[in-house]
Amino acid sequence: MAAAILETREVSKRFGGIKALAGVTLSLHPGELLGLIGPNGAGKSTFFNVVAGVYRADSGTVRFRDRDIGSLPPHARCQLGLARTFQLTKPFFSLSVLENVTLGAYYGRKGDGVTLADARAAADEVLHVVGLSAKRDHLASTLTAGERKRLELARALATKPSVLLLDEVIAGLSSGEVGSMMEIIRSLPSTGVGILMVEHVMRAVMAISDRIVVFHQGRVLATDTPAAIANDPEVVSAYLGSSGSAAARSASA
Ligand code: ADP
Ligand code: MG
Repeated sequence: MAAAILETREVSKRFGGIKALAGVTLSLHPGELLGLIGPNGAGKSTFFNVVAGVYRADSGTVRFRDRDIGSLPPHARCQLGLARTFQLTKPFFSLSVLENVTLGAYYGRKGDGVTLADARAAADEVLHVVGLSAKRDHLASTLTAGERKRLELARALATKPSVLLLDEVIAGLSSGEVGSMMEIIRSLPSTGVGILMVEHVMRAVMAISDRIVVFHQGRVLATDTPAAIANDPEVVSAYLGSSGSAAARSASA
Protein backbone atom coordinates (compact mmCIF):
# COMPACT_ATOMS: atom_id res chain seq x y z
CA MET A 1 0.00 0.00 0.00
CA ALA A 2 1.16 3.57 -0.72
CA ALA A 3 2.62 5.63 2.13
CA ALA A 4 0.12 7.15 4.53
CA ILE A 5 -0.89 10.71 3.72
CA LEU A 6 -2.11 11.38 7.24
CA GLU A 7 -0.77 9.61 10.28
CA THR A 8 -1.28 10.11 13.99
CA ARG A 9 0.87 8.45 16.63
CA GLU A 10 -0.14 8.10 20.26
CA VAL A 11 -2.24 11.27 20.21
CA SER A 12 -3.62 12.20 23.63
CA LYS A 13 -5.84 15.06 24.70
CA ARG A 14 -7.22 15.91 28.09
CA PHE A 15 -9.93 18.37 29.12
CA GLY A 16 -9.42 18.98 32.83
CA GLY A 17 -9.92 15.58 34.43
CA ILE A 18 -11.33 13.98 31.28
CA LYS A 19 -9.04 11.99 29.04
CA ALA A 20 -10.79 12.53 25.69
CA LEU A 21 -8.01 10.84 23.68
CA ALA A 22 -5.67 8.30 25.24
CA GLY A 23 -3.04 7.46 22.62
CA VAL A 24 -4.63 7.31 19.17
CA THR A 25 -2.50 5.86 16.37
CA LEU A 26 -4.01 5.60 12.92
CA SER A 27 -3.23 6.26 9.30
CA LEU A 28 -5.09 7.32 6.18
CA HIS A 29 -3.88 6.51 2.67
CA PRO A 30 -4.40 8.41 -0.61
CA GLY A 31 -7.71 7.45 -2.18
CA GLU A 32 -8.92 5.76 0.99
CA LEU A 33 -12.26 6.34 2.69
CA LEU A 34 -11.81 5.77 6.42
CA GLY A 35 -14.94 5.81 8.58
CA LEU A 36 -14.61 6.85 12.23
CA ILE A 37 -17.33 5.53 14.52
CA GLY A 38 -17.90 5.01 18.23
CA PRO A 39 -20.37 5.77 21.00
CA ASN A 40 -21.05 9.28 22.27
CA GLY A 41 -18.10 10.61 24.22
CA ALA A 42 -15.64 8.19 22.56
CA GLY A 43 -13.43 11.07 21.38
CA LYS A 44 -14.36 11.26 17.68
CA SER A 45 -14.93 15.01 17.58
CA THR A 46 -11.86 15.67 19.71
CA PHE A 47 -9.73 13.62 17.34
CA PHE A 48 -11.22 15.38 14.32
CA ASN A 49 -10.41 18.74 15.91
CA VAL A 50 -6.86 17.70 16.80
CA VAL A 51 -6.28 16.71 13.17
CA ALA A 52 -7.92 19.89 11.82
CA GLY A 53 -5.87 22.03 14.22
CA VAL A 54 -8.71 23.35 16.37
CA TYR A 55 -7.07 21.66 19.39
CA ARG A 56 -3.44 20.90 19.98
CA ALA A 57 -2.69 17.42 21.25
CA ASP A 58 -1.11 17.20 24.71
CA SER A 59 1.22 14.54 23.39
CA GLY A 60 1.73 12.45 20.27
CA THR A 61 2.23 13.49 16.66
CA VAL A 62 0.06 14.41 13.67
CA ARG A 63 1.86 13.97 10.36
CA PHE A 64 0.50 15.11 7.02
CA ARG A 65 2.45 14.21 3.87
CA ASP A 66 5.48 13.38 6.02
CA ARG A 67 5.44 16.67 7.82
CA ASP A 68 4.66 17.23 11.49
CA ILE A 69 1.71 19.64 11.44
CA GLY A 70 0.83 19.35 15.12
CA SER A 71 1.59 22.97 15.93
CA LEU A 72 0.06 24.57 12.82
CA PRO A 73 -3.21 26.55 13.06
CA PRO A 74 -6.25 25.34 11.04
CA HIS A 75 -5.82 27.76 8.11
CA ALA A 76 -2.20 26.73 7.63
CA ARG A 77 -3.25 23.06 7.54
CA CYS A 78 -5.94 23.95 4.99
CA GLN A 79 -3.37 25.68 2.79
CA LEU A 80 -1.25 22.52 2.86
CA GLY A 81 -4.21 20.51 1.53
CA LEU A 82 -6.11 19.39 4.62
CA ALA A 83 -9.74 20.49 4.24
CA ARG A 84 -12.71 19.98 6.52
CA THR A 85 -16.45 20.43 6.59
CA PHE A 86 -18.39 21.81 9.55
CA GLN A 87 -21.24 19.96 11.20
CA LEU A 88 -23.30 23.12 11.28
CA THR A 89 -23.00 24.62 7.82
CA LYS A 90 -22.62 28.37 7.64
CA PRO A 91 -22.59 29.67 4.05
CA PHE A 92 -22.82 33.37 3.21
CA PHE A 93 -26.57 33.47 2.65
CA SER A 94 -26.56 36.71 0.65
CA LEU A 95 -24.05 35.32 -1.87
CA SER A 96 -24.73 32.90 -4.69
CA VAL A 97 -23.79 29.24 -4.56
CA LEU A 98 -20.94 29.87 -7.03
CA GLU A 99 -19.66 32.85 -5.03
CA ASN A 100 -19.65 30.82 -1.82
CA VAL A 101 -17.58 28.05 -3.37
CA THR A 102 -15.28 30.53 -5.15
CA LEU A 103 -14.47 32.13 -1.80
CA GLY A 104 -13.67 28.68 -0.39
CA ALA A 105 -11.33 28.00 -3.28
CA TYR A 106 -9.70 31.42 -3.11
CA TYR A 107 -9.09 31.72 0.61
CA GLY A 108 -8.46 28.03 1.20
CA ARG A 109 -5.37 27.97 -1.01
CA LYS A 110 -4.40 31.64 -1.01
CA GLY A 111 -0.78 30.80 -0.24
CA ASP A 112 -0.54 28.96 -3.57
CA GLY A 113 -1.02 32.12 -5.63
CA VAL A 114 -4.53 31.11 -6.68
CA THR A 115 -6.21 33.85 -8.75
CA LEU A 116 -9.92 34.62 -8.56
CA ALA A 117 -10.30 33.18 -12.07
CA ASP A 118 -8.64 29.92 -10.94
CA ALA A 119 -10.89 29.87 -7.90
CA ARG A 120 -14.00 30.35 -10.01
CA ALA A 121 -12.98 27.56 -12.39
CA ALA A 122 -12.32 25.23 -9.45
CA ALA A 123 -15.70 26.21 -8.00
CA ASP A 124 -17.56 25.36 -11.20
CA GLU A 125 -15.81 22.02 -11.36
CA VAL A 126 -16.72 20.99 -7.82
CA LEU A 127 -20.30 22.24 -8.14
CA HIS A 128 -20.60 19.69 -10.91
CA VAL A 129 -19.11 16.96 -8.68
CA VAL A 130 -21.64 17.64 -5.91
CA GLY A 131 -24.56 18.03 -8.32
CA LEU A 132 -25.20 21.74 -7.70
CA SER A 133 -24.39 23.16 -11.14
CA ALA A 134 -28.04 23.97 -11.79
CA LYS A 135 -28.07 26.07 -8.60
CA ARG A 136 -24.83 27.94 -9.21
CA ASP A 137 -26.44 31.38 -9.50
CA HIS A 138 -29.03 30.89 -6.76
CA LEU A 139 -28.60 32.56 -3.39
CA ALA A 140 -27.26 30.18 -0.75
CA SER A 141 -30.24 31.16 1.43
CA THR A 142 -32.61 29.42 -1.00
CA LEU A 143 -30.98 25.97 -0.69
CA THR A 144 -32.58 23.02 1.10
CA ALA A 145 -30.79 21.45 4.07
CA GLY A 146 -29.42 18.70 1.84
CA GLU A 147 -28.19 21.15 -0.79
CA ARG A 148 -26.56 23.22 1.93
CA LYS A 149 -24.58 20.15 3.03
CA ARG A 150 -23.49 19.63 -0.57
CA LEU A 151 -22.48 23.29 -0.76
CA GLU A 152 -20.40 22.81 2.38
CA LEU A 153 -18.74 19.80 0.77
CA ALA A 154 -18.10 21.80 -2.42
CA ARG A 155 -16.43 24.59 -0.43
CA ALA A 156 -14.03 22.08 1.10
CA LEU A 157 -13.37 20.32 -2.23
CA ALA A 158 -12.70 23.61 -3.99
CA THR A 159 -9.45 23.95 -2.03
CA LYS A 160 -8.29 20.79 -3.88
CA PRO A 161 -7.42 18.95 -0.71
CA SER A 162 -5.35 15.79 -0.53
CA VAL A 163 -7.10 14.95 2.75
CA LEU A 164 -10.72 15.72 3.43
CA LEU A 165 -12.20 15.55 6.93
CA LEU A 166 -15.96 15.05 6.88
CA ASP A 167 -17.90 15.83 10.03
CA GLU A 168 -21.30 14.13 10.02
CA VAL A 169 -22.25 15.26 6.52
CA ILE A 170 -25.09 12.75 6.44
CA ALA A 171 -26.65 13.52 9.82
CA GLY A 172 -29.99 15.30 9.51
CA LEU A 173 -30.56 14.58 5.82
CA SER A 174 -33.75 13.06 4.41
CA SER A 175 -33.42 9.49 3.16
CA GLY A 176 -33.35 10.60 -0.49
CA GLU A 177 -30.62 13.12 0.27
CA VAL A 178 -28.62 10.49 2.21
CA GLY A 179 -28.50 8.34 -0.92
CA SER A 180 -27.18 11.10 -3.18
CA MET A 181 -24.68 12.33 -0.57
CA MET A 182 -23.34 8.79 -0.15
CA GLU A 183 -22.90 8.43 -3.90
CA ILE A 184 -21.03 11.71 -4.08
CA ILE A 185 -18.71 10.81 -1.19
CA ARG A 186 -18.11 7.33 -2.56
CA SER A 187 -16.99 8.86 -5.88
CA LEU A 188 -14.41 11.22 -4.35
CA PRO A 189 -11.53 8.83 -3.50
CA SER A 190 -11.12 8.01 -7.20
CA THR A 191 -9.52 11.45 -7.52
CA GLY A 192 -6.88 10.38 -4.99
CA VAL A 193 -8.17 12.32 -2.00
CA GLY A 194 -8.01 10.52 1.35
CA ILE A 195 -11.19 10.90 3.40
CA LEU A 196 -11.67 10.64 7.14
CA MET A 197 -15.38 10.57 7.82
CA VAL A 198 -16.92 10.90 11.28
CA GLU A 199 -20.46 9.63 11.06
CA HIS A 200 -23.29 8.44 13.27
CA VAL A 201 -25.42 7.01 10.48
CA MET A 202 -24.12 3.46 10.71
CA ARG A 203 -25.74 2.12 7.57
CA ALA A 204 -24.09 4.84 5.50
CA VAL A 205 -20.60 4.64 6.98
CA MET A 206 -20.59 0.84 6.78
CA ALA A 207 -21.72 0.91 3.15
CA ILE A 208 -19.14 3.29 1.74
CA SER A 209 -15.98 3.05 3.88
CA ASP A 210 -12.91 1.07 2.84
CA ARG A 211 -11.92 0.67 6.49
CA ILE A 212 -13.60 1.53 9.76
CA VAL A 213 -11.90 2.75 12.91
CA VAL A 214 -13.88 2.23 16.11
CA PHE A 215 -13.18 4.59 19.00
CA HIS A 216 -14.06 3.69 22.55
CA GLN A 217 -13.13 5.76 25.60
CA GLY A 218 -10.52 7.75 23.73
CA ARG A 219 -8.78 4.72 22.25
CA VAL A 220 -8.88 2.78 19.01
CA LEU A 221 -10.85 -0.36 19.80
CA ALA A 222 -10.55 -1.84 16.30
CA THR A 223 -9.56 -0.99 12.73
CA ASP A 224 -10.76 -3.23 9.90
CA THR A 225 -13.06 -3.61 6.92
CA PRO A 226 -16.75 -2.85 7.56
CA ALA A 227 -17.68 -6.54 7.36
CA ALA A 228 -14.96 -7.58 9.81
CA ILE A 229 -15.84 -4.72 12.20
CA ALA A 230 -19.49 -5.74 12.27
CA ASN A 231 -18.50 -9.28 13.25
CA ASP A 232 -15.90 -8.31 15.84
CA PRO A 233 -17.34 -9.51 19.17
CA GLU A 234 -15.54 -6.80 21.15
CA VAL A 235 -16.92 -4.05 18.90
CA VAL A 236 -20.41 -5.50 18.93
CA SER A 237 -20.52 -5.69 22.72
CA ALA A 238 -18.96 -2.25 23.23
CA TYR A 239 -20.96 -0.41 20.66
CA LEU A 240 -22.74 -1.91 17.72
CA GLY A 241 -25.22 -4.33 19.24
CA SER A 242 -27.67 -5.83 16.80
CA SER A 243 -28.25 -2.71 14.68
CA GLY A 244 -24.58 -2.67 13.66
CA SER A 245 -24.68 -6.25 12.47
CA ALA A 246 -27.77 -5.47 10.45
CA ALA A 247 -26.01 -2.48 8.89
CA ALA A 248 -23.01 -4.61 8.01
CA ARG A 249 -25.16 -7.29 6.45
CA SER A 250 -26.72 -4.66 4.20
CA ALA A 251 -23.25 -3.19 3.52
CA SER A 252 -21.83 -6.48 2.30
CA ALA A 253 -25.02 -7.48 0.45
P1 ADP B 1 -17.57 12.06 20.50
O1 ADP B 1 -17.42 13.07 19.42
O2 ADP B 1 -17.05 10.72 20.17
O3 ADP B 1 -18.99 11.99 21.02
P2 ADP B 1 -15.99 13.95 22.05
O4 ADP B 1 -14.67 14.02 21.40
O5 ADP B 1 -16.95 15.05 21.78
O6 ADP B 1 -16.66 12.53 21.74
O7 ADP B 1 -15.79 13.87 23.63
C1 ADP B 1 -14.86 13.02 24.28
C2 ADP B 1 -14.85 13.37 25.76
O8 ADP B 1 -14.23 14.64 25.94
C3 ADP B 1 -16.23 13.46 26.38
O9 ADP B 1 -16.15 12.99 27.71
C4 ADP B 1 -16.52 14.94 26.34
O10 ADP B 1 -17.41 15.30 27.36
C5 ADP B 1 -15.14 15.56 26.55
N1 ADP B 1 -14.98 16.85 25.88
C6 ADP B 1 -15.01 17.06 24.54
N2 ADP B 1 -14.78 18.36 24.25
C7 ADP B 1 -14.61 18.99 25.45
C8 ADP B 1 -14.35 20.34 25.82
N3 ADP B 1 -14.19 21.31 24.90
N4 ADP B 1 -14.26 20.63 27.14
C9 ADP B 1 -14.39 19.65 28.06
N5 ADP B 1 -14.65 18.37 27.78
C10 ADP B 1 -14.75 18.03 26.49
MG1 MG C 1 -18.91 14.25 18.46
